[in-house]
Amino acid sequence: MAVAGAAGRTELDELRAAYRAFIDEHVLPAEDALSREDAAADALLAELRARAKAEGLWAPHLPPEAGGTGRGFLAYANLNEEIGRVVWAQCVFNCQAPDAGNGEILHLYGTEEQKERWLAPLVAGDARSFFSMTEPDVSGADPTGLRATAVLDGDEWLVNGRKWFSSGAEGAAFGIVMAVTEPEAPPRRRMSQIIVPADADGVEIEPVPVFGHRGRGWSTHCEVTYTDVRVPFGNLLGERGAGFLIAQKRLGPGRIHHVMRWLGQMQRAFELMCTRALEREAFGGPLAEKQTVQGWIADSAAEIQACRLLTLDAARKIDEERDARVEISLLKFYAADVLSRVIDRAVQVHGALGLTSRSPLSHMYTMARAAHIYDGPDEVHRMVVSRRILQAFADGGVWRFG
Ligand SMILES: Cc1cc2nc3c(=O)[nH]c(=O)nc-3n(C[C@H](O)[C@H](O)[C@H](O)COP(=O)(O)OP(=O)(O)OC[C@H]3O[C@@H](n4cnc5c(N)ncnc54)[C@H](O)[C@@H]3O)c2cc1C
Repeated sequence: MAVAGAAGRTELDELRAAYRAFIDEHVLPAEDALSREDAAADALLAELRARAKAEGLWAPHLPPEAGGTGRGFLAYANLNEEIGRVVWAQCVFNCQAPDAGNGEILHLYGTEEQKERWLAPLVAGDARSFFSMTEPDVSGADPTGLRATAVLDGDEWLVNGRKWFSSGAEGAAFGIVMAVTEPEAPPRRRMSQIIVPADADGVEIEPVPVFGHRGRGWSTHCEVTYTDVRVPFGNLLGERGAGFLIAQKRLGPGRIHHVMRWLGQMQRAFELMCTRALEREAFGGPLAEKQTVQGWIADSAAEIQACRLLTLDAARKIDEERDARVEISLLKFYAADVLSRVIDRAVQVHGALGLTSRSPLSHMYTMARAAHIYDGPDEVHRMVVSRRILQAFADGGVWRFG
C-alpha cells in the first residue's frame, strides 16, 4: 500500500474514506428498509450493489486476479471497520459471509474449471453459496467426529448426511460440503470438501429461525439434508482427505473477517453510547457527567483499541504468510467479549430505548451473542491459545509474540 501523499493521507486512507462516504450516504439511510427483507429490500439491495460495483468498491476480500479489488488482509481489515458498521454493507460490497470465505477457498484450491463455474458468478454477484460443515447430531466444536459421507461411485460422489447452520443456504446456488471420504484415515485426513449444487436431486434446505437473525435468503441458517446426492468427481475441492486442512485455511482468515466487521459494530455502538450520554439528562445533568458512564466510555475505548491493534497485527502476519494461529484464536474470543460488552453498555446508556427496534442496538445486541459460538466457541479458542503457549514451554522454550 502506498505511503502518505501530499495531504499526509495514504492510498488506503483514501479508499477507507470512500467506503465510509458510500455507507454514510447510501447504506445507513437504507438500513431500516433493508432490514425488512421484503421484495422492496431486494430491489434496493440490487441498486446499491450496482452502485458499489460502478464505483470500484466491489469484492474487496479477493485480489484482482480473482475478480476482486482486494489489496491484502491488512487493507481489508481497515475497510471492514467501515463496512462492519451496518450488517447489510457486506452484501452491498459483495464480501458477505460465507461467500467471502468460500470465494477465498475456490480461489486458492479450485481448478480452472471450478473457478469458472463456481467462483466467477460469486465474484460477479450473480450467485450466493453456503458452507455446510456443522451437523446437529455431533459436536461442531470438535469437527473430527462429523458423519456426513461422500462415497465414490464410478465417476460420481454419492453424498449423504444431515447438516445444520449452513448460513445463507436458502436461495444459494451451491454449497461446499464437508464429508467423510476416507473413513480409515487419521481423524484430520478423513474429510474432503465437495461442491454440491443446491438444486441437485436429494438436497433439502430448511431454514432454522435463530435468535437475532430475521431469516430470509442470505440471512438464514439452514438445516440441509443430503440423500443420495450425486455430483461429478470433479466437484472435489483440493485433494481427497484435505477437507480439514482447507477448512483451517478458510476458517482462520474467516474469523479475522468476522472480527474486522465486529470492530465496525463496536465503533458504532460506542458512537451511539457517547452521543446519547451527552444528550440525555438525568439527576440535574447529562449522563456523560456520571462517573459510571464515563467509566464505560473509557473502558470501551481501551478495549476497542486493543481489538483493533490485535486485528491489524494478525492481518499483517497473514499477509506475510506467517503462522498466526494463536493470534487469530486469541482475537476471536477476546473480540467477541468486547463486542458483547460494548453493545451491552450502549444499550444500558439508552435505557428502554436500547431494547426497541427504534434503536439499531437491539438488533446488534442479539447478533453479538452468536459471535461467541460461530467459527468455534470461545472455550475452544482459549484451549487452542493455551495449548500452543504451554507447548512452547514444554518444549523447553518460552512463548513470545513476534
Ligand atoms: C450464527 C451462526 C452461523 C453459523 N454458520 C455456520 C455455517 O455457515 N456453516 C457451518 O458449518 N456451521 C455454522 N455455524 C455452526 C458453528 O460453527 C457451530 O455452532 C460451532 O462450531 C459449535 O458447534 P456446536 O453448535 O455443535 O456446539 P458443540 O460442539 O455442541 O459445543 C457446545 C458447547 O460446548 C462447549 N465446549 C465445546 N468444546 C469445549 C472445550 N474444549 N472446552 C470447554 N467447553 C467446550 C462450548 O461452550 C460450546 O458452546 C454457525 C453458528 C452460528 C451460531
